[in-house]
Amino acid sequence: MSLNMILKQWTPSDKAALIALCNAVDRTYLSARLPKPYTDVDADWWLGMVRLNDGKNGIFRAIVVDGQIVGSISVERNAENNTEGEIGYMLLTEYWSKGIATEAVTRICRMAFCELSMDTIVAKVYKANAASLRVLEKNGFVEGSPVGAQDIKQVVKRSETPAFTQSDIPLILAGPCSVESEAQILATAQALAKIPQVTMLRGGIWKPRTRPDAFEGRGEEGLKWLREAKKETGLPTATEVATPTHVELALKYGVDALWIGARTVVNPFSVQQLADALKGNDIPVYIKNPVSPDLNLWLGAFERFQKDGITQLAAIHRGFSYYKESPYRNFPMWEIPIELTQRLNVPLITDISHICGNRELLLSTAQKALDLATDGLMIECHINPAEALTDAKQQVTPEELKTLLSNLTFRAKNSGSVERDLANLRGEIDEIDAELLQLLARRMEVSAQIGEYKKQNNVTVVQMERWKKILADHVATGAEMGMSAELITEVFEAIHQASIERQSRVMDE
Ligand code: PEP
Ligand code: MN
Repeated sequence: MSLNMILKQWTPSDKAALIALCNAVDRTYLSARLPKPYTDVDADWWLGMVRLNDGKNGIFRAIVVDGQIVGSISVERNAENNTEGEIGYMLLTEYWSKGIATEAVTRICRMAFCELSMDTIVAKVYKANAASLRVLEKNGFVEGSPVGAQDIKQVVKRSETPAFTQSDIPLILAGPCSVESEAQILATAQALAKIPQVTMLRGGIWKPRTRPDAFEGRGEEGLKWLREAKKETGLPTATEVATPTHVELALKYGVDALWIGARTVVNPFSVQQLADALKGNDIPVYIKNPVSPDLNLWLGAFERFQKDGITQLAAIHRGFSYYKESPYRNFPMWEIPIELTQRLNVPLITDISHICGNRELLLSTAQKALDLATDGLMIECHINPAEALTDAKQQVTPEELKTLLSNLTFRAKNSGSVERDLANLRGEIDEIDAELLQLLARRMEVSAQIGEYKKQNNVTVVQMERWKKILADHVATGAEMGMSAELITEVFEAIHQASIERQSRVMDE
């Protein structure tokens, strides 16, 4: 689906396009309030009303595809209840069934919740208008209270920081590693807001750097730009906090969700201070795994926040520092986040950017995360990655992000959790195989020692009678454990054969 669509503010110069739109649009399911024919006077009234009310009592936008106005969408504040709005839209018939209405509804709802501080948006739709009901459903509208008219259904959507549980589509948290300048974050956010799957804007304000004298983030000034980006795009925002002062400032500037960085989670003192600083502000908190592969440390961080009454917790898996060479910047060790979510039942976000450390591995890693039923992806995205002040190698442009997302296979959640369970079992098999290998190696080592002993004492290698007795015992024990005589015989014959060869080699040396 190519969605070269923008929602544009109405201007006086749109008058002719507005008249053409309103006279061409299919009226089967439109409110009778739309004058017919739609005249010059009607257009003047609309454009004047919009100019007075836009951003205050409503959000009114033209739906523009490939530079042409093809529809109109608005959310108007309810005069009796100012935290509630009503959505309405129209779109030329030839633009239906292309995902345009769905995307326009997503964006305008974000804007309304954010800019107009609404908490509820209602839609009144003809029951027969299945296509429109589907668009609203896809946007999380659910059945509302009945309205007077028999043929009309009311559906409602409530403001929320993106929910993790309802949808099969994972949350996409995208944005630059660091908020660097007003222009950078605004341009990035605007491009991201055009990508339908993007649900949240990330941006680092305080950057934990390995070495001093590197760029450490813009601090409070950056929070103002992040707030501006949210206002312009309606995207909720998230940033990393590492000290109680960060928490206080992030709350002051209306950041919607906070995450605790991998270097902070390793320190229980810091985690406790952050949990205490948030007491009474139950906003979503995402806890990254500690840099070291220590499940208990990660679990402990969740417990500290839970004890302080923070309930909207999620985990971010960003890989682990590891002594082994690997193509990843941080080794994924998928079994650790899987184990965490099984113990805690919290949503899991996979930070593919910090796992990979480069762009090349992002796609396969994101797919792997989706196959394991991740609830969200965090992806670093910069309007100009080459110029990024931090993590330049792993950031992608919004355009590249769009391509990446379109190349992913999103699976139904339950099939994903089957994958997740399977992955867990496969992990167990891998561990058992590793133990078997260790045991086999030990066994071969003992064989070599026996060979050495026999050589010194001039004894023959094979004592056939002893072996037959041992094998018979193993077959009997194996049968008690539910394994066939064939399996036991085959496995132990092979092991025995290898042992003899090893002994013989030692004796021939
Ligand atoms: C980040 O998200 O930019 C970051 C610093 O991540 P982490 O704490 O995972 O290293
Ligand atoms: Mn980063």
